[in-house]
Amino acid sequence: MNLANGRPYLAIPGPSTMPDRVLNAMHRAAPNIYEGELHAMVEGLWPDLRAVAGTSDHVAVYLGNGHSAWEAANANLFSRGDRALVLACGRFGIGWSEWAAAMGVQIDLLDFGKASPVDLDRFADALRADHGHQIKAVLVTHVDTASSIRNNIPALRAVLDTVGHPALLAVDCVASLACDEYRMDDWGVDVTVGASQKGLMTPPGLGIVWFSERARLRCAGSDLRTPGTDWTLRALGTEFWQHWAGTAPTHHLFGLREALTMIGEEGLENVWARHEVLASAVWAAFDGWGAGNPAIALNVSDPVYRGRSVTAARFGAPHATHLRQWTEHRAGVTLGIGLGMAAPTEPAYHGFLRVAHMGHVNAHMTLGALAVMQAGLVALKIPHGDGISAAVRVLGQAAGV
Ligand SMILES: *Cc1c(COP(=O)(O)O)cnc(C)c1O
Repeated sequence: MNLANGRPYLAIPGPSTMPDRVLNAMHRAAPNIYEGELHAMVEGLWPDLRAVAGTSDHVAVYLGNGHSAWEAANANLFSRGDRALVLACGRFGIGWSEWAAAMGVQIDLLDFGKASPVDLDRFADALRADHGHQIKAVLVTHVDTASSIRNNIPALRAVLDTVGHPALLAVDCVASLACDEYRMDDWGVDVTVGASQKGLMTPPGLGIVWFSERARLRCAGSDLRTPGTDWTLRALGTEFWQHWAGTAPTHHLFGLREALTMIGEEGLENVWARHEVLASAVWAAFDGWGAGNPAIALNVSDPVYRGRSVTAARFGAPHATHLRQWTEHRAGVTLGIGLGMAAPTEPAYHGFLRVAHMGHVNAHMTLGALAVMQAGLVALKIPHGDGISAAVRVLGQAAGV
């Protein structure tokens, strides 16, 4: 029996669901890139892009994905041989460090494993051990999409300030921007890395780097820069083409414009609150399922340190893979693979999955995905408790009347 026909739901942590409004905004003839409507639209895009990251400083847009935003951030932050301290809480923190290392940056890696946030004492010790202040920047993920660990960015800033270390603070918000509360300026962040296809609800293709004036001045001499990665003209250019180092990503920009309009209509704080409630429903479902089978558990035990846009969990191998296959092919819901928890060749790999609740998602989508998961547990005869009642209760109580 196949119940998958109907509108499919891609509940993987990026690309996220693209609103019809965003797709329709992109469905148009190519605009003149030299003058007219596109230029006028982009004028209004800059303030909204700054606002979504909580900064009044600079923003540079690259034609690329999150990896290219990492590369651009690295190229602007560092000269060959500079040192970076990387605080890793999952595959994406490690990935950012690998990209920086490959570019010639010396990496000090503090790896906090796959289920714990940054340990502030270890972070402080690493900064104190750097007597000569050789560490130019600290790189960290806000939400590591592989582990779904969410770090407390203001607490990291406080450690830098307490120790009195001048390193710049660079934060990967690809998975968390416009999902989890984030305030770049208020939290003392120097560089924020994002991409179009997660909380920003736009197709993959734009990498975005926000940077403080402090970072601009401190990094003015960085020699890893190339004309394509240099953030100066991208952010501050006086000619339109300089913002893109060539042809503008025209259709992506129209899509992003619509997405930012939608975020503005809802209100950024309401967007964060919606993600908070949907995430709580997902967590409640897992707790309920796990009550009937201890092999089913969330990856991150303390809710404070859980991302609000994605949830990593275990089901016991090989149940996670079987469940993913069932929900996708029998019921139209595609869940995320476990990432970085075990190698795809290891049997343990089949015990992990992720549920995204990122961007253009609402109560019925999240409850639908969870209910389909529970139906899959029934179909596959995987022991479980009732997760749905708890998830329904969370949403019902949060939404009120
Ligand atoms: C998705 C993601 C990336 C990589 O983005 P791509 O667009 O896949 O290159 C980097 N960091 C985090 C935290 C992500 O979620």
